Amino acid sequence: MALIVKKFGGSSVADKDRIFNVAKIIVDDYKKGNEVITVVSAQGDTTDDLIEKAKEINDGSISKREMDMLLTAGEQISVALLAMAIEKMGCPVISLLGWQAGFNTDSNHGIARIKNINTDRIKAELAKKNIIIVAGFQGLNKYDDLTTLGRGGSDTSAVAIAAALHASRCQIYTDVDGVYTADPRKVKDAKKLCEITYDEMLELATLGAQVLNNRSVEMAKKYSVELEVLSSLEKKEGTIVKENTKMEKMLIRGVTSDKNVTTISVIGLKDSPGIAFKIFNKLAQYKVNVDMILQSIGRDGTKDISFTVPREQSDTAIESIKSLKSTIQFADVTTDNSVTKISIVGAGMESHPGVAAKMFEALYDADINIRMITTSEIRISVLIDENKTDKAVQTVHDAFLG
Ligand code: ADP
Ligand code: ASP
Ligand code: MG
Repeated sequence: MALIVKKFGGSSVADKDRIFNVAKIIVDDYKKGNEVITVVSAQGDTTDDLIEKAKEINDGSISKREMDMLLTAGEQISVALLAMAIEKMGCPVISLLGWQAGFNTDSNHGIARIKNINTDRIKAELAKKNIIIVAGFQGLNKYDDLTTLGRGGSDTSAVAIAAALHASRCQIYTDVDGVYTADPRKVKDAKKLCEITYDEMLELATLGAQVLNNRSVEMAKKYSVELEVLSSLEKKEGTIVKENTKMEKMLIRGVTSDKNVTTISVIGLKDSPGIAFKIFNKLAQYKVNVDMILQSIGRDGTKDISFTVPREQSDTAIESIKSLKSTIQFADVTTDNSVTKISIVGAGMESHPGVAAKMFEALYDADINIRMITTSEIRISVLIDENKTDKAVQTVHDAFLG
């Protein structure tokens, strides 16, 4: 007997047939004598639809608490429907909302972090031989208010349960059959990976490969939970995410794009020491995540500093820069949303010179201009015009993985 934690994303439970398909996967494992806990997301586009509904009521600033109250409803529907399907198939089952399953989070509505899981209820239900269906993406804060974990957060819910119950593996079922070298829906010749390390997967997820939520990978690494990404529609082996892989280090493991980027430029700054410190210190105080940074060469005593932030933080970033107006002088501050970040990831590049040059050459050949660059040991990212996104990803993928 094993304890199995499974997670099914929105497309896997989108309609009646998909729900019964998922119910069968769960029941098959249960009938083999396993304990099965399943985390589910809201059906199909439910979360997006709920966000639209909220905007119909108020297109200004909606309180994050009420937004969480609304969005948690999506998962409440899917857990109940899946439990009903399993009931119909004659197996004992119980659905639980996040709070019933013991998910305690901080109070950061919309992007809450799990503090701990009180597993008493889950353990009691397992002892009663129930199949357990848990609503993903949600928890409860210390004021007994509902919270959500951020988009794609059901992956994290599943990994958290697997970690809390020391399950040996957590299976993430989705609408593709594994992790690919690029989004298989967009890139011709994207290849499926048998295995990938936590570190590489974390970079891919953070840089735009939506197949796994980055916090879930972070948590899987921290608690050594092996992940398997696999299809809910086809029975075949997926991709294993773990600490070390047997595979030879590939130079590049994947290519990603991320449109959730805004460039902010502070123009006409005084070219003197301490300016960058004051800007980035203020951004840090406002909790803005800065990624790429570019400083122009000082001319005539002035310089410009540009940097990128996640799109949802651009207003906060502007506000923080404007709050500096009395401390540092600058002519203007501008934003530009027409950009995309293209990245390559691979542990192999650490020991391989020339990777950056190869990426830049591929973009040059495709006549794509690079606006900014950042690198780490295992990734290189460039900022380009948004309308060249698909072409850039395909071109870079062809160069390294074609
Ligand atoms: P779910 O609803 O199951 O959570 P998501 O839509 O969040 O599913 O994630 C699955 C999608 O991620 C796939 O349909 C695919 O288009 C996309 N994707 C992006 N990058 C990759 C990648 N490198 N490998 C596999 N899928 C990817
Ligand atoms: N339903 C939530 C979302 O769409 C959580 C998830 O799917 O993981 O983001
Ligand atoms: Mg997802």
